[in-house]
Formats: sequence, structure tokens, C-alpha cells
Amino acid sequence: GEGTSTILQTRDLRKEFGGLTATDDVDLAVEESELRCLIGPNGAGKSTFLNLITGRLEPTAGSIYYDRFDITGLPSHERVDRGISMKFQVPSLYEEFTVRQNLRIPLQRAVESDVFEARTRELLDQFDLLTEIDEPATSLSHGQQQRLEIAMAMGLEPKLMLLDEPVAGLSVEETAEIADILQTIQAKEGVAFIVIEHDIDFVEMIADRVTVLDQGGIFTEGTIEEVTSNPDVKRIYLGE
Ligand code: ADP
Ligand code: MG
Repeated sequence: GEGTSTILQTRDLRKEFGGLTATDDVDLAVEESELRCLIGPNGAGKSTFLNLITGRLEPTAGSIYYDRFDITGLPSHERVDRGISMKFQVPSLYEEFTVRQNLRIPLQRAVESDVFEARTRELLDQFDLLTEIDEPATSLSHGQQQRLEIAMAMGLEPKLMLLDEPVAGLSVEETAEIADILQTIQAKEGVAFIVIEHDIDFVEMIADRVTVLDQGGIFTEGTIEEVTSNPDVKRIYLGE
């Protein structure tokens, strides 16, 4: 149709760990250039869902379509090459490397060597890290490290970016800065995002739409206003 087109669609996506259903027949669609937030209580299955999209985990059943192509059986590295990139919940910087050297790792994979330097500077400028270019990763603040990790995921030139708790442990100012950066990238580069985050103020700043997961399934979807005014959403958070 006109206007939007779907970048990601899951069909009856399911993941069981022994007797536990972590992803319960999820049908989720994300449009190109959309910024979707995934929220829900601890253990709702948010990280598991993203790990199924990257191929880090294999589903028990169901399918994943990306860019209209069934990627369910593809290994992770082929999904990366097709444009799916993820910043994980656990830090993955090379501490002994400088900022530039860290960024070189994804860029080497995604772009020709003659544009390394230009793309490095462009990304570091976007992520407000240009003055840190030759500093070791260990000298960065927690907020700067988070920005570098997102920049590294962006270095893979994705069409779909998956972020697991990108502002966990950050100050209000650092959180607002990351919100700004993500919105700029979304607008300028047309990248779609799925962002897991507990910080509801951050979700309010960035989300086009919000999906609430509970016990592995989609509890509800809508705008941030629709979701936060839903009394049943409050109930699942309070565990009543
Ligand atoms: P969330 O990110 O929403 O907090 P997770 O996706 O991490 O939730 O976990 C969903 C459920 O699956 C939880 O009950 C968790 O304990 C379980 N789980 C996650 N990963 C594994 C695993 N590798 N092995 C067994 N159980 C797991
Ligand atoms: Mg998680």
C-alpha cells in the first residue's frame, strides 16, 4: 500500500525453555522507520523476543519475516548482513581499545575501508563522542559508553536496530541526550527501532507506538497515552 511498509513481522513466534513459555505465540509488526518500545514487567519475555529476532535464540515454533523475507532459519551473521543490529543489555566494549578502534570493528564489516574515517567521524559526531575519538573506552563515563555501544550497533548500517535497556543506570540528562540522538537517527536515516526500556519517561520521549508484553505474550499495543492510561497495564506491573 501507500506510505508505510512492514520491516518486521513475527507469526506465532514461540520460545519455550523447558516447561516455561518465554515467548507465547507473538504476532508483532514493526513498520519501516518506526520507533517501537517494548515494555512489560521483569520476566515478561522482552529480551527473549529480541534474541529470537537476532537469531541468538532459536524459536520453538513460528516465523520471523524481515523485509518480506522469511529469516527464521538464518544464522545471526546473515541477519546482521541484511541489516538487523542489536545493542545488548550487557556491555560489549573492548575496554583496552580506543573509541575509534571500537567503532572500527562494526565498520570493517559494513563499509569499504576508504570511508572508515569519514563514517567514524560522522557517527562520533552524531553520538557526541568526537572529542573522545582517541581515548580508551575505559576512560568514558557510563553514559558515553552507552552512546559508543549504540554507535557501534549503528556502524553495522542497520535498517532495524534492537536496543535492550539503552538508558539503564543513566542520569536524567544522559537519558534525554540518548532520546535526542535516537530521534535524530530515526528521522535522518530512516532506521526502525525496537527499544526495550523500563524508564517510562524515556519511552514517552521516543516511542511512536508501545507494545506491552506480559508472560511472553502481547498484552496490549498502542500509543504511550493509550498504554499508560490502561488500568490493566497498571495491574500487570503491580502483579495484582
Ligand atoms: P525480560 O527481558 O522481559 O525481563 P526475559 O526474556 O529475560 O524477560 O525472560 C523471560 C522468561 O524466560 C523468564 O522467566 C526467564 O527466567 C526465562 N528465561 C530467559 N532466558 C532463559 C534461558 N536461557 N533459559 C531458561 N529460562 C530463560
Ligand atoms: Mg530483559
